[in-house]
Amino acid sequence: MSASSPVVELRGVTKAYGELQVLRGIDLAVHEHKAIALIGASGSGKSTLLRCIDLLDEIDDGDVLIDGEVVTDPSVRPPAVRRRLGMVFQAFNLFPHLTVLENVTLAPRRAHKVRRAEAEERARELLARFGLAGREDSYPDRLSGGQQQRVAIVRALAPNPRALLLDEVTSALDPELVGEVLEAVRELKAEGITMLITTHEMGFAREVADEVCFLHEGLIVERGAPEEIFTAPRQPETQRFLRRLL
Ligand code: ADP
Ligand code: MG
Repeated sequence: MSASSPVVELRGVTKAYGELQVLRGIDLAVHEHKAIALIGASGSGKSTLLRCIDLLDEIDDGDVLIDGEVVTDPSVRPPAVRRRLGMVFQAFNLFPHLTVLENVTLAPRRAHKVRRAEAEERARELLARFGLAGREDSYPDRLSGGQQQRVAIVRALAPNPRALLLDEVTSALDPELVGEVLEAVRELKAEGITMLITTHEMGFAREVADEVCFLHEGLIVERGAPEEIFTAPRQPETQRFLRRLL
């Protein structure tokens, strides 16, 4: 690991499901404290890309590196890699039989061997910061979708991951609940959390991302500052994609 290594890096990553080539050679670097937004049509491979970084899917070729270490090497154990990343999915995936506090302290206590008192103190602090004070003892089904997703974000953040991978974290929410979850991601950005985000919320990508990557048929066909991508896209595929959203 060197000071200049990106936190997350993909080099020539390819991935197919059977005959379907989903990622065709992805190069991407997420540097410390940066937020990168991945945009692209449904089916373009955004979720697959995040899953390959978290080693939930096995890549066919190329490398994924975390802090300069090749983690797609067969000698690397996936659980050890996952402990260095925090992933949040579209459908919150909280443990229904655990309270909010138990959901948030589980990984720090089990995987990171943090003492209960210490894990709970950090959990309470984070929950308060994300507007969830007083919810510690609630079960997920007593919470709104927006609250559940904020708990999922806090849970991902609790073990102090090197980066967060956020996959369409507002897509499963009722429209009136989207704002509070976007606000939580703004808070992450303000804290300098390194993030790779997939989203359909273009206004939000524009606001929060340091760099936007447009994925088309398994390739990043255009990348740049949000202002460039959203006001003056150069590639015809990007232009078509953004025009359809208007
Ligand atoms: P996005 O997140 O951009 O909508 P995905 O990464 O979910 O795209 O999917 C990319 C393509 O891969 C889609 O055509 C999808 O149907 C296919 N796909 C995703 N996961 C699997 C899987 N486990 N098995 C087979 N095909 C899959
Ligand atoms: Mg997806």
